[in-house]
Amino acid sequence: MPSHTLIQDGRARDASRFATSVDVSDISGNEPIEVLHIPNDADLDALAPTLGRIETILIDFPAYTDGRGFSLARQLRRRYNYEGLLIADGPLIPDQHAFALQCGFDAVRLDDETLKRHTIEDWHSALDDFDMTYQRGYAVKAGPATSVFDARMTTLDSRKAGDPFFGHSAELTLRKAITKFKGDIVLATSMGVDSAVLLHMVSRIDPSLPVIFLDTGKHFRETLAYRDELVSRFGLTNFQNITPDQAAILAEDPDGTLNQSEPDSCCDLRKVRPLDGVINGYGARITGRKRYQTPERAEMSILEETSPQAKVNPLAYWTAKDVTAYMRQHDLPPHPLLAIGYLSIGCQPCTTRVSAGEDPRAGRWRNSDKTECGIHMVDGKWVSVETKATFEAF
Ligand code: SF4
Repeated sequence: MPSHTLIQDGRARDASRFATSVDVSDISGNEPIEVLHIPNDADLDALAPTLGRIETILIDFPAYTDGRGFSLARQLRRRYNYEGLLIADGPLIPDQHAFALQCGFDAVRLDDETLKRHTIEDWHSALDDFDMTYQRGYAVKAGPATSVFDARMTTLDSRKAGDPFFGHSAELTLRKAITKFKGDIVLATSMGVDSAVLLHMVSRIDPSLPVIFLDTGKHFRETLAYRDELVSRFGLTNFQNITPDQAAILAEDPDGTLNQSEPDSCCDLRKVRPLDGVINGYGARITGRKRYQTPERAEMSILEETSPQAKVNPLAYWTAKDVTAYMRQHDLPPHPLLAIGYLSIGCQPCTTRVSAGEDPRAGRWRNSDKTECGIHMVDGKWVSVETKATFEAF
């Protein structure tokens, strides 16, 4: 019997524990099934009553040109909510690695013959250099990509359009941006539900990069605890906790209720002014903005150099699911409030839970016309303006 290797979570492991598997024709009874091997045309409706007792499913890929296993994985995750380990089993190629993860696979199992054609390093770098898992919107100009190969073509076309980071994975974008703006680039973080992703990447590239958090004095306790946990866990050595000017707070919001009477003034006092003094000194700023979030961001480039301060948006093409996939892949802790329905988290008095199906930002300034914190860059300075298109990181 040929030996196999499992490529999972950026590591190559011995796959011998999956050597013995049950065939799909033999799943009667009520006992747990450790490993089930299914063909790529398996009848999932027939399998559905059994899924809850299957720990691992290997989906057979007879050839890398046969993509039916990808569809099967998607259906298992999305339609049947299968939560066990899902492994693509067969002679795939590294270009399909990211796509496999995107479809819901946790790992790829390769036999020795397949590994002779591509090294383990090829498999790892396929994720690093061309990260379709987290950049699925690459194909936006040509319509949704149906495969990584379509997306690569679109990438090549779009490079001509002038975004120098187009087609790079988020991590590669960060590496190049940190080199390009060496010593003159900053990451502003909200310590929200997506923040761990960029902080984790930064920690792997340059943990001494300046990272700024705006501590308004109105955050949830959980956000501050999450901040402390992430900074410590990632070893960020240049983390800066920016607070509002206390004399201004005493003068303008002595009883701490300005957010109720004049939320725009409160944001100006607690966010705009403290940030203005710190962040404008940098030539470039890394943001966590994503194209899917608002219509105004739909055409956003990864690198924006249209104002005095360049913006680097490594996650421009990510979706919420890509964030989840990355957090899962790297075992990053979620924001503690996410589990109880907070999908977009700002200051405590101005944030509520959202219901299923609501826009994630519906919980911010609920029952108010205000939709953004008002932090916006105009003529190279951070200012407070009233527009729905101003949300940055906070
Ligand atoms: S989000 Fe609310 S509490 Fe926070 S600064 Fe703005 S108005 Fe004040």
